[in-house]
Amino acid sequence: MKKLIIIFILFTCVCINIFSTEAVYAKSNYLPNKTDTNIRILAENLAFLKILSSEKNSEQKEFIQTKIDSSEKIIKSYQDKISDSDLNNIKKHLKNDEIITIDYIQNNKNNLIENIDKLNLPKSISEFYKGFLAELTRLYELKEKYPSEIAKIDENEILGFELGKHIVYLTFDDGPSNYTGKKVDILNKYNISADFFVVGKNIELFKKDFMQLVKSNNEIGYHSYSHSNLIKLDKNKQYEEIVSSKNLIEEKYGIRIDYFRAPYASRNSISTELINSEYKKHILWNIDSQDWQSTFTEDIIYERVIRLVHLYDGGIVLFHDNNLKTQNVLEKIVVNLKDSGFNF
Ligand SMILES: [Zn+2]
Repeated sequence: MKKLIIIFILFTCVCINIFSTEAVYAKSNYLPNKTDTNIRILAENLAFLKILSSEKNSEQKEFIQTKIDSSEKIIKSYQDKISDSDLNNIKKHLKNDEIITIDYIQNNKNNLIENIDKLNLPKSISEFYKGFLAELTRLYELKEKYPSEIAKIDENEILGFELGKHIVYLTFDDGPSNYTGKKVDILNKYNISADFFVVGKNIELFKKDFMQLVKSNNEIGYHSYSHSNLIKLDKNKQYEEIVSSKNLIEEKYGIRIDYFRAPYASRNSISTELINSEYKKHILWNIDSQDWQSTFTEDIIYERVIRLVHLYDGGIVLFHDNNLKTQNVLEKIVVNLKDSGFNF
């Protein structure tokens, strides 16, 4: 029974994230709509429960299954109706299930981690759960400062949840750089390809590296001419950043660029219209490596990416081409994902 209580606490930990972060999300440019993220958090919760359920005895399994069923119901109701009153209903529903507060999680984080140990799971699985719990609380703590969640605002946008099972796209932004060639070598070594979202003005600075990319099997996408925040620009300036500068590059290098990614995922209806008129798809991401964070070590980046790719069973991972830590950890990530059966 004690184990059940622990599992229930873990479950409620996940749920509480939904309510405590609404106001923060609403402030972010990245999230014009909080609903997708809330569904995603519920989906993570669901995935977590499903993993747990495969490890338990029948009594525990039954308990977990009721939680899975109620999560699925909530997600469905979320997707059908997304008004504020629904949000309140969902809150109420979960409150009846004795939701604990975020303060409790913050104050008891260490106890919760200890509790995972008491479940006597195989080491790799308990490490996974601990990491998952840490990730949830860490995301909560960082969200206001470092939002990395994005939501779709247009049907031509791809976040990564749309890909099939076991499919992962590695993407590298802000290049070319003097690391591009080394990345191409690593990708070649494992016979896989990735998407490089290049910044127009960096092509002038790193011509040789760009040529190596052009000759490789990798996809080249465009990431604007000067990495500006598009929503701060008028239509003419956005046209230059998204369309005309890209056309010049295509002409000069004899290539075609079919995919775009807005810097900071920041875009408005003007950007969306220009992107849709010029590109096949607007490729965003659902797994942010956060490799740009100075406090993140190579190990943290590795753990974070591996955990999230496994959790979602694939997706689009955002890295930065001009980042040394990413450069150093890339091969280890590729080996893990290849060995785990992911396709690139
Ligand atoms: Zn960028």
